[in-house]
Amino acid sequence: MLPLRSIAFLLVMTASVPVWAQRIHQYRVTVDPDIRSMQVKACFAGRPPAQLVAESLDAPAAFVEGKAVMERRQPLQPNGTEMRLKGIADDGCIEYSVNLAGGYTKNDLSGNTTKRVGRDLFTEVGLWFWRPAQLAPDEDIEVSFALPEGLAVSTPWRPVEPAREWPSYRIGHAEFDRPSAVAFGWFKEIPVEVPGAVLRLAILDGAPPADVDAMRTWIHDAAMSVAGVHGRFPVASPQILVVPGARAQEPTPWAYVLRGGQAAAHFFVNQRRPLRDYIEDWTAPHELSHLLLPYVTSHDAWLAEGMATYYQNVTRARSGAITPNEAWQRMHAGFKRGRDSAVKGMTLEQATVRMFRDGGYMRVYWSGAAMLLLADVELRSRSDNRQSLDTVLAQFADCCLDPNPEWTARQVFDKFDELSGTDVFRRLYDAHVAATAFPDLAQLYADIGLEALGGKVELKSDAPRIDVRDAIMARGTYATPAALLR
Ligand SMILES: [Zn+2]
Repeated sequence: MLPLRSIAFLLVMTASVPVWAQRIHQYRVTVDPDIRSMQVKACFAGRPPAQLVAESLDAPAAFVEGKAVMERRQPLQPNGTEMRLKGIADDGCIEYSVNLAGGYTKNDLSGNTTKRVGRDLFTEVGLWFWRPAQLAPDEDIEVSFALPEGLAVSTPWRPVEPAREWPSYRIGHAEFDRPSAVAFGWFKEIPVEVPGAVLRLAILDGAPPADVDAMRTWIHDAAMSVAGVHGRFPVASPQILVVPGARAQEPTPWAYVLRGGQAAAHFFVNQRRPLRDYIEDWTAPHELSHLLLPYVTSHDAWLAEGMATYYQNVTRARSGAITPNEAWQRMHAGFKRGRDSAVKGMTLEQATVRMFRDGGYMRVYWSGAAMLLLADVELRSRSDNRQSLDTVLAQFADCCLDPNPEWTARQVFDKFDELSGTDVFRRLYDAHVAATAFPDLAQLYADIGLEALGGKVELKSDAPRIDVRDAIMARGTYATPAALLR
């Protein structure tokens, strides 16, 4: 994601106080059956905003025409990604149309651009969604989609309840320039129920088509294993998009989490791989584990990636998808890759900021995972496993998963310390974020009985805190069905 997103941070922090929305602007989106164009009618509650903005640099090119709905129909014209509204009365409306078939390529901030997926269409929201840059605490936008019979929509926003005539959503208060995607297509959105959440799964068109039951089983298994971290899945109704057609041997060569609206996870899959490959793959537990934290600024990606990288192995060991021994082998191999990574001489902070240029992914991901393992082991050791990273995340979920504010790693770690009544996280931050060396795990290995032998790690039976080692990977409340592992 783009690093320069923190300018509005303080504004958003103060605007995120939950206040019952009073002013609901209504957007009605009408989509043609061939999904090549859309018409939007936006009616504002009270005084219209002075200007609208769009997140994508491609939005001006996709904009076809627009007008204010008033007696003298005044044309609207974007100026770059901004559009001034003048002379529109209170409670007034505008209308505009957008060409969705333009092959837009300027903006790749979301990791993807608007594109056809078989008969379906993946759209960057910022291509067509002209909206106020900021919403006051008492404002929200309700977007409803008037769709031809059989055409469905998948959005990252919160569905309005009870259900309206058309699929309708409240967008909430996340910053307007956080990337997000809406898909239109001939799919049926599938509710995937897990403790604490209903994931909204949409599987786009493919040739051959993806096996819908297999994809649902795969996402359900991964979401259940992540819900097991502290008992409930961290985001109430996230958008889960599965996009077939990826060219690769592995089942999910590319995936990411977006933070516009509620959180969303998108998986680009090779739908020819059997279900077994998906169940064995770490990608879905990794991406869904990202949701254990709110949006952490990309300058501190070591924390978000470290959390996902740690739990991609821990959750799978607990569900039985891999053995505890295999989980430790994978973690050990990861720590080695992080230590050997090509960005020697850089601090973790520098390696994170330069990750996309210098390819220091392994250093960043596995340094974060090592710090969280150090934290988990220390919390468990001092409390005889009563306290852990899981329990801290459970407390954090109760206070701090509002999707709108953007956090720094320091703020998250300070909160973790406050919730755990310790200084475990502050000490780890101070020791490792500005250090050029990979976190030293020698003492931890000795304490919990891990012995490195060449590229492998051996689980010893005589170490002071074997109980901690085994508790981390102990089977949890959810077990991956044995049939999926055969
Ligand atoms: Zn990740």
